[in-house]
Amino acid sequence: MYKCKEIIELTSQNMETSLPWYTRLEMKAHYLMCTTCNRYAQQLQFMNKALGAFEGHAPNKDCQLSDDAKQRITKKMDQAKLTGD
Ligand SMILES: [Zn+2]
Repeated sequence: MYKCKEIIELTSQNMETSLPWYTRLEMKAHYLMCTTCNRYAQQLQFMNKALGAFEGHAPNKDCQLSDDAKQRITKKMDQAKLTGD
């Protein structure tokens, strides 16, 4: 069984590379028992998706976020940090 610290590390790794199925299974089992790691994984997934969607839809390199959008993103990220234990 993995410890929280290891799960956090594996969760980040899993975003970059595909981990073996048995590792992912252990992670899933841990998420079911541990709300802290579960919440962390959800936040990481959300950020990953948000970044991916942004990169995928940016029409060109000159595309700039409006100040309003920047503020909203910064606020969301701060909120995620605050609730992330
Ligand atoms: Zn945990």
